Amino acid sequence: MKYIVITGGVISGLGKGITAASIGAILKGAGYKTTMIKIDPYINVDAGTMSPFEHGEVFVLNDGSETDLDLGNYERFLNINLTGDHNITTGKVYKSVIDDERKGKYLGYTVQIIPHITNRIQELIINAAYAPINKNNDVPEICIIEVGGTIGDIESMPFIEAIRQLNYNNNSNEMCFIHVSLVPKIGRDGESKTKPTQNSVKDLRQLGLFPDIMIVRSETEIDVKTRDKISMFSQVPENNIISNPNVNSIYEVTVNFDMQNIGNIICNKLDLIFNKKPAYLINIKDYTSLYLPYNDDKVDNITIGIVGKYTTFTDSYLSVVRALEHAGYYNKCKINIKWLSSENINLTDVANCNGIIIPGGFGNRGINGMLLVTQYCREKNIPILGICLGMHIMCIEAARQIYGFSCNSEEFEPDAKHPIISIVDEDNKNMGGTMKLGLHKTYITKSNNGSLTTAYKCYSENNCEKKKDVEYICERHRHRYEVNPKYREDLSSKLFFSGKDAEEQCIDIVEITNHKFYIGCQYHPEFQSHLHKPSPLFNGLVKTCLKNPIVNIVE
Ligand code: GLN
Repeated sequence: MKYIVITGGVISGLGKGITAASIGAILKGAGYKTTMIKIDPYINVDAGTMSPFEHGEVFVLNDGSETDLDLGNYERFLNINLTGDHNITTGKVYKSVIDDERKGKYLGYTVQIIPHITNRIQELIINAAYAPINKNNDVPEICIIEVGGTIGDIESMPFIEAIRQLNYNNNSNEMCFIHVSLVPKIGRDGESKTKPTQNSVKDLRQLGLFPDIMIVRSETEIDVKTRDKISMFSQVPENNIISNPNVNSIYEVTVNFDMQNIGNIICNKLDLIFNKKPAYLINIKDYTSLYLPYNDDKVDNITIGIVGKYTTFTDSYLSVVRALEHAGYYNKCKINIKWLSSENINLTDVANCNGIIIPGGFGNRGINGMLLVTQYCREKNIPILGICLGMHIMCIEAARQIYGFSCNSEEFEPDAKHPIISIVDEDNKNMGGTMKLGLHKTYITKSNNGSLTTAYKCYSENNCEKKKDVEYICERHRHRYEVNPKYREDLSSKLFFSGKDAEEQCIDIVEITNHKFYIGCQYHPEFQSHLHKPSPLFNGLVKTCLKNPIVNIVE
């Protein structure tokens, strides 16, 4: 196993996740089986209980683990499936050591950060590195480890020390260290300042890690003088200093790194041969060329409104945005996203979209705005996709046509007279990892009154999988509330249930089949979307929007 460790300096938010994923894509493009680990030094056991305002979206894996959004970047860039073991947090490490201590595993000893915590970190890293990441159960050859946070943070110290020990236990051709740092520009002439980077390399070296490669984030390409200076102070050869200026599309980062021969430099350090297999990178270049001239008027252009309460921090909906990009790429169109705050809805904005998405969410803030948008889209035949919470809204909106305002979700109104949406497992009061999580089967109903259902059309006709007669699909779930079985019959007069779980206990898809596109799903289709295999529901929405002119006028 060869390890590549990516650390960050100066500030957070330097795009280490995309950097790590891009390097993974390049090495995979050279034919190496590459896996990825994210280390998050926070004390939470997983990201499941954190607000999207803090860390962005919670990404859900096949095994139901709730992880940092970077695991989504890794899965999408490398087209691999990771597990909860690939996201190591301080909480997980300490919990496992403390559990062992209670079982008497360290009887007679004082349990300490060194060696017990640092040993456990190494065990968890090695264990995750060797875990298979694809259907063929291939064992990876290269493992990229991204260390969250910034060098010098107290939280990350045990991890850095564990990695130092791992390095000591391995040969020098088995580990490659990459430090991502910032070079800001100040003053009227925009002079590049390398001091923060010098200091962060100094911190890194004091902790016993010596960078082989520096990746320099900056507004624009760094000049020769800056490169020389960084090289001298960090003791990294000039050729190993990679410039990473601001770009319009994340896929340009990969292309940029590739042009600076990063694959070659890494492989040299690891005693590997870098033999680029071009197919993967050519595809990424395609993508860049589609997005690069942002004002290219040759490609079709559609506007999709995303209605939610986290619209001021769009990382909260990262996978939804990516899934839209994938569907846009697939349909050769450009997608403009219009962020519509659910607490402040103006229907003119909705009318100015080709289609709408109501993504997942928690709590009752902004619910009325979402209900208003849903009703408007239903009545005006505007394409709409409701995801998880969005599907709950569709069900409440439908039920209100029957019962008026006395119906709601138990999540928003625990004593609602008509709880259309109710809690799945009432007895489970813990908040961490207690939802219905991960990959589950949904059985698709093919037709509704002689017409093919929208769900069926999306998952079969839209040729993502080129499947004939799809019987069931597998998508990732993350929810605590579902359609209340008591209201199924009433609801079925307004919505068609085109997807259910194997036991027919849970309604997974609702739709209005003769609407242009009106579909809600209990699962999160965005988590499995890839550039070359867009999510069928996003693909269906984008295809419909391309044929759907903007309504424009609100009556
Ligand atoms: N809050 C809802 C539930 O727990 C929806 C969750 C979601 O959108 N992911 O069921």
